[in-house]
Amino acid sequence: MSTRLEATPVAAAHLSTEERARLHRLLLDEHVAQRTRAVELQDPLDLEPDLAEVLLVRCHEALEEIEAAFKLFDEGTYGLCGSCGAAIHYDRLEAVPAARHCLACQSGRDRSLR
Ligand SMILES: [Zn+2]
Repeated sequence: MSTRLEATPVAAAHLSTEERARLHRLLLDEHVAQRTRAVELQDPLDLEPDLAEVLLVRCHEALEEIEAAFKLFDEGTYGLCGSCGAAIHYDRLEAVPAARHCLACQSGRDRSLR
């Protein structure tokens, strides 16, 4: 099929409706947890201010990743690798619901960051 090469978003057909609903739920829970944490970190009671700031930055990064994942849900491309387009295995998504890359691409990216 030559149309497969065109850049239209393809729904991640490897995920069942139930799996997608579960992952969406995990993302929502994580979003709430990170937002709660961000509020706590703005007025940390038992942390060094420098450490709290680092944690707060990470918290905002996590929130951005989660929001990006929600966008992929809207586009119907959630669960597909953003680099190579491969289906990301459900087990990986369950462990890291905001994952945007398959393991092969992710490990390549991690290496290139070092
Ligand atoms: Zn990939």
